[in-house]
Amino acid sequence: MRNEVYNFILDDFIILKVFKTIKEFSKDKETPLLIVDLARIGEKYDELVRKMPFVKTYYAMKANPLDEVLLILKNKGSCFDAGTVYEIDRLLDLGVDPEKISFGNTIKKEKDIEHAFKKGIRLFATDSDSDVKKIAKRAPGPKVFFRLLTESDGADWPLSRKFGAHPDMIHELIVKARELELEPYGLSFHVGSQQCDIGQWDNALSKCKYLFEVALQEGIQLKMINIGGGFPASYLSPANSIGTYAKEILRFIKEDFGENHPEIIIEPGRSLTADAGIIVTEVVMISKKSKLNQYKWVYVDIGKFGGLMETIDECIKYPIYSEKEGNGEEVIIVGPTCDSMDILYEDHKYVLPDTLKEGDHLYIFTTGAYTQSYSSVSFNGIPPLKAYVI
Ligand SMILES: *Cc1c(COP(=O)(O)O)cnc(C)c1O
Repeated sequence: MRNEVYNFILDDFIILKVFKTIKEFSKDKETPLLIVDLARIGEKYDELVRKMPFVKTYYAMKANPLDEVLLILKNKGSCFDAGTVYEIDRLLDLGVDPEKISFGNTIKKEKDIEHAFKKGIRLFATDSDSDVKKIAKRAPGPKVFFRLLTESDGADWPLSRKFGAHPDMIHELIVKARELELEPYGLSFHVGSQQCDIGQWDNALSKCKYLFEVALQEGIQLKMINIGGGFPASYLSPANSIGTYAKEILRFIKEDFGENHPEIIIEPGRSLTADAGIIVTEVVMISKKSKLNQYKWVYVDIGKFGGLMETIDECIKYPIYSEKEGNGEEVIIVGPTCDSMDILYEDHKYVLPDTLKEGDHLYIFTTGAYTQSYSSVSFNGIPPLKAYVI
């Protein structure tokens, strides 16, 4: 018997093919390391374009900001969603046209708004009176889109509460923006990352329809809806295909707006990059807490601080693979640092072979998004997660 992701790997030929390369590549390298398969990201982007021809894509670069990743997407014609001036400057350094960049963070310093505007950024997200005023003061006349508050029900990694405002407040902001000579351009929302309930887009789009009508009564024709990220990657629990998301979301859009719907923007992060990454980690120690305790603790050399932040509350469950043959046994998987919150999976028991030994490698799949950029600078002296592209 093998562990539970064995079938997952056999089912996914692309990963299986790359797996041999990855094993070879990581053989003599210091662990932990992240390997990113660039071709896979390209395929994911092409698939998105095929399945969602009705959208314009702004890659949410915080998911994986490696230069090589940004460049492959740039060369394929993608636009980019940046959250800070650092991200904006990185994109400009790589030759991305400022017209293809949005400043998508609603939390901005005045000086950063000015910096972005001077560099040619003309599309800003906003969700508050304070931010609308700051944009008008430092960046005369750009397009602004207003972020709606949404519930993140159904998302494995919620993004609710912090961003967006209630539709009534958005109504006021749209009017305010016009007064301040900004161009009220559209609306945005994010239904929560790894959102498995496609119906959440329907709820948010109904709010957009309401606001389009309210704005029109004020004489303002909004032109765009940014339906955010939230599209899934292949973790332990299966998700619908991007094709299914596309079909359903287009149906919701047409129900609310008809055939001549507004311009639709998406901001995928996870769904473009997660599947392209594999982390190779080494088993540091295997122990038990007492003789009678049922479960082994398997300590590996990467944990929450090394890049697996999304294991907080066991939100994201990565497929974990061992090549060893043996009987499967349920274990607790733990990070290497001296912080006791650095336990990866305790409630959900992963099944690993009982022949697993210290020094063996484990392969953590679907780790191309929200891993390296989360890894700490030197917690316990551990260097940030090293990434290689193949
Ligand atoms: C992080 C982020 C995204 C990306 O979300 P995913 O669920 O990773 O696709 C999109 N839009 C905004 C504004 C974000 O902050």
